[in-house]
Amino acid sequence: MKCRQCGTEIADKALICYRCGTATTEAKYQPAAVHRRSSYLRPVLLVPIVALLVALLAAAYAMLN
Ligand SMILES: [Zn+2]
Repeated sequence: MKCRQCGTEIADKALICYRCGTATTEAKYQPAAVHRRSSYLRPVLLVPIVALLVALLAAAYAMLN
């Protein structure tokens, strides 16, 4: 196949162009990676968890003193 970025002939199974580094399967690969990342580490879900931990630590600290 040909690199869609620079037009260099590259192997059909190549994941990236050896010349310019452009991914050949970007359309398939990238959404899956983004989806996986967003489902595991969602800042919206982490904020309440971190806030709860901080509140618990503050409560424990207050009880000890
Ligand atoms: Zn290229």
